[in-house]
Formats: sequence, C-alpha cells, structure tokens
Amino acid sequence: MEVNRALFDDVMVPNYAPPEVIPVRGKGSRVWDQEGREFIDFAGGIAVSCLGHCHPAPVRALQEQSERVWHLANVMTNEPALRLAKKLTDATFAERVYFANSGTEANEAALKLARRWAFNEYGEDKSDIISFERSFHGRTFFAVSVGGQKVYSDGFGPKPGAIHHAVYNDLASLEAVISDKTCAVMMEPLQGEGGIIDADPEFIRGVRQLCDKHNALLIFDEVQTGVGRTGHLYAYMDSGVTPDILTTAKALGAGFPIGAMLTTAAIASHLKPGTHGSTYGGNPLACAVAEATFDTVNDLTLLAGVRKRHDLFKAGLASINARYGIFKEVRGKGLLIGAELVDEHAGRAKEILQAAMSEGLLCLVAGANVVRFTPSLLIPEADIEEGLNRFEAAIDKLFGQVAKAG
Ligand code: PLP
Repeated sequence: MEVNRALFDDVMVPNYAPPEVIPVRGKGSRVWDQEGREFIDFAGGIAVSCLGHCHPAPVRALQEQSERVWHLANVMTNEPALRLAKKLTDATFAERVYFANSGTEANEAALKLARRWAFNEYGEDKSDIISFERSFHGRTFFAVSVGGQKVYSDGFGPKPGAIHHAVYNDLASLEAVISDKTCAVMMEPLQGEGGIIDADPEFIRGVRQLCDKHNALLIFDEVQTGVGRTGHLYAYMDSGVTPDILTTAKALGAGFPIGAMLTTAAIASHLKPGTHGSTYGGNPLACAVAEATFDTVNDLTLLAGVRKRHDLFKAGLASINARYGIFKEVRGKGLLIGAELVDEHAGRAKEILQAAMSEGLLCLVAGANVVRFTPSLLIPEADIEEGLNRFEAAIDKLFGQVAKAG
C-alpha cells in the first residue's frame, strides 16, 4: 500500500487540510518525514509535546505500564490514576480530580459540573454560563457553543441555551451580562486559539470578584496554558487568582491523550455516581505517561528554563522584525508566543507557516494574523537559534523584496 498525502483525500473525512509532509519519526525538538527531511519543531503538536518527541521519562512509563495492565474502565480504579490525582491535588488548589481523554471532554465535565452544582445549590434558574469572545474551549457541541468563535459553532442546528459571551479584558462587558442567574464564567487565563491574548491582571481579578458577588463558579480553561507552558505549572499560579474549577489536557500527557478537571471537594461532591463518566477516562496507560510527564515538568529549574527560552524567542523575533518590519507585536508568556502581523500583511499567517515548512521549520497560526510558537519546554537553545534562522529565511523569501524596497 502506498501511504502518502493523496491517500488522505481518499480515506479521511475532509475536516482537516494537512500539508504534503508526513512525519514518521521525532526526537527532542526535531522530526523527520517519509523522505528523511528534517524539521525543527516550534509547533510542539499544538502545545502538547511539552518534553519534545520520545522523551525517555514518558517512554519508560508507557513501556512499563504496557506490560502491567492497559485498561480496566471506570468500574474500577487503578494505581497510575490514583498517583496522578494525588500529585495534581498536592500541586494545585484542587482537592478532587476527574479524568477525561481530551481538553474538550475536561471542559464538558467542568460545564456539566457547574450546571449540576448550581441546580442542586440554587435551583434551575441559575444556569447561565458566560465565556468570552474569541475564546476556544473545544469541539463538543456544549464546549464549542461556550467558545466565543461562531465560525466553529454555527451551522449545526439549535445550540445549548443560557450561554452568553462578554468581551475579553473588558470588565464592564462582563458586568453587563453577569447576574445571580450565572452559574459559571469560563475563561482561558491567556487566550490561545483566539490570537495569544493575555488577560490583564486587573481584569482577571475583576472576573473573580464578579463571580464571588454573584455566587458563580470561575472555571479556568488551562488546556493550552497548563503544565508549564507559561513558565508556571499553571497560569493561574502567576495571576493572583484561584479558580473553582480548572481544566488541563494537551501537555498533561506529552502526546498521549488525557484530560483532567480539577476542583474542590465541596464542588466535586455534586457529581455523584452515575452523573457523568467516560469509558477511557483515567486509563492506566494515559495516567502512567501523564504521571511521568508531570513529575518532569513540576520542577522549578525546568519552569525557569521555559521563561529563559521565552526571552530567547522574543529577542530573536525582535531582531528579525527589526529587519523586515512585518510584526505589529510579539506577545505571550513562556513558550506560548504569538507574533501578530502588521495590517499591511493581515491574513498572511498561514502563508508564513507554509514558507517556514519549506525551510524545515514547523510552526502554527492562531487565527489569520498571528504566527504561533509552542515548542517543547525543553527545546535546546541551539534548536531555537537554528529554527529562528530558518524562520528568517522563510520571511526573507516572502517579504525580502518588500523590506529592501521599503
Ligand atoms: N481549550 C483550549 C484552551 C484549547 O486550546 C483547546 C485546544 O486547542 C481545547 C480546549 C480543546 O482541547 P482538545 O483538542 O484536546 O479537545
């Protein structure tokens, strides 16, 4: 059988449009495709591959667990799940953990828990959920409807009700929609898919105060920001604000699918047996990999290294921008970095990504105007330097003449 990009169009649902390149191997921050071409990985599987490719700690954990027990389902618990939950609760505000298989599912659990908590505590009128424009919370119909991007949620028929959207970083707009009927406010402490937009410190504190005033739960979606991505174990830890529920996924499994919802014992008590569940959630393989990943990331030296790498990226991108003048702003935290194009080049982020791939560099976009970088938290400095050289070569091909003429 010939396995190539053409086969994708023959056998796959066309909801994705992947490039010709099919990677077959990865090590650290480098990957190789079917032809043996090498790429530096600034994409990190969309903020997932936090330890790079095939890091020995999760590889060993997976190998060892794969010879013990693979699956028991939610009718029984298992050792890796219990150990991981203990470590997550020890390291965060949370006292209880629910395991899922993805970020979307962790959010689905958080939203259902908030509704059930409000129903039990205050009655059926307290069901409003508020999130923010441009937010992204995943693709189940509840999660995508709570997300603030109609392009993802429209066209699927009637949406779940009692969902409202305010403007991110605009407290007055939240004040206008929040009320005693609000059961939860869901937000990303730094919007990822929406364009790498950080929450202002006063805004995030104001959201917490408004939730307290109206007895609403504050849910932080840390699916993209969590597990070291911002240079802190979780972004909330650097915000001065503690949520009531936190969702985490992506980097939690370093590439093995797992998600988790963290909360307090009092709130968790509303998800009684039978109220929610998942056949695979808390699977021993996933939890063993996540435990080894968590042990590696939950380390002050590693987290300081993320902040140092942030500075290297920022400096490198600034010097490229000094030569080409294509970015309006380079922003983000830790290794969640976005470079927004100037108005003159608006809409060309995808083109840059494609040009970068031709130069042997994988990166991402966050919307049409922002090039996004979410590499391994352990990416070697030499790979950052070489990757930025390749990035500059791509920029030169696309914008060199413009910059020289200008
Ligand atoms: N929430 C946030 C903030 C995300 O960035 C994403 C994915 O990009 C999700 C939820 C959905 O996660 P998953 O794709 O694992 O379902």
